[in-house]
Amino acid sequence: MIRKVFFAALVSAFAFPGAGLAQSDYPNKPITVIVPFAAGGPTDVVARILGEHMSRTLGQQLVVENVGGAGGTTGMTRVATAAPDGYTLGVGNMGTQSAAPALYPTLKYNPATSFDQIGIANYTPQTIVAKKDTAAKNLKEFLAYLKDNSAKLSYGHAGVGSISYVSGTVFNSQFGFKPALVAYRGTAPALNDLVGGQIDYMVDQSLNVIPQIKGNTIKAYAVAAPARLEALPDVPTTKELGVDFIFSAWNAMVAPKGTPKAIVDKLVDALNKALDDPNTVKRYVELGSTPPEAADRGPAGLQKLVESEMARITPVLKAAMAAEPEKK
Ligand code: ASP
Repeated sequence: MIRKVFFAALVSAFAFPGAGLAQSDYPNKPITVIVPFAAGGPTDVVARILGEHMSRTLGQQLVVENVGGAGGTTGMTRVATAAPDGYTLGVGNMGTQSAAPALYPTLKYNPATSFDQIGIANYTPQTIVAKKDTAAKNLKEFLAYLKDNSAKLSYGHAGVGSISYVSGTVFNSQFGFKPALVAYRGTAPALNDLVGGQIDYMVDQSLNVIPQIKGNTIKAYAVAAPARLEALPDVPTTKELGVDFIFSAWNAMVAPKGTPKAIVDKLVDALNKALDDPNTVKRYVELGSTPPEAADRGPAGLQKLVESEMARITPVLKAAMAAEPEKK
């Protein structure tokens, strides 16, 4: 028996002479980080904040590649099917990593089994925003306005399966609004059109909309969270306004399934160092974001979140879609 094991070890050492070395000198070239949405949007911003710090820890550049389309599933399919060698990673979000399977029956990846999870990147509440010249003075007036006019209005989102699509679907179906849905490759270009007045409203991550709210180029009605954000002290929460709509988004880093454990461990360590850096903490506060607690970090925390979010969101989405089958 011992001889057999020894022989097997010998065979594999000859068959893959560079495998051990490839892991121990990892990374020895730049790492591609696929962001499945347009540059400048929430997932992209988080990937770049963390990627810049991780590049320093790992001694190699993490290069963001924006691969938008199909609510982020095009990019995440690329990640799931890439070589599991640590040189292609992805930053997905609650949409791509938990809602998408409910909306794409032929999706080529399963968020719970097609990736080696690296860790949760951040949490950010959704914020209800509208174009600047919307007359409603507060959330109550805005909801009343939507009730009477939503069929004439448009809602911008980052594609079927994205967080802005999911949160918008839940929001619109909960209140019976029926706007025209306008899809973009990310919420950065959607926000540009909201500022330009080409679309009427969005429910998007605070991370994306805070600079525009502060610059008064769009109107903010509420943060869909239990507590006000330090970055938006004047914007009330849905909770304090007594509106039953709380929606927290998250982003997360993953690698293709089968990535060697030694490589995943290095990436987890680099991600955790990036999350602990005071500059990251400061940027997160400015963006209304929160890092994961120590206990939720790393692969186990993300795996648990993906599984619980898939279980939570799938029935909510199915109910919302059943109420509005024409929107699918
Ligand atoms: N996070 C956005 C969403 O899923 C997309 C983006 O990052 O642009 O709605």
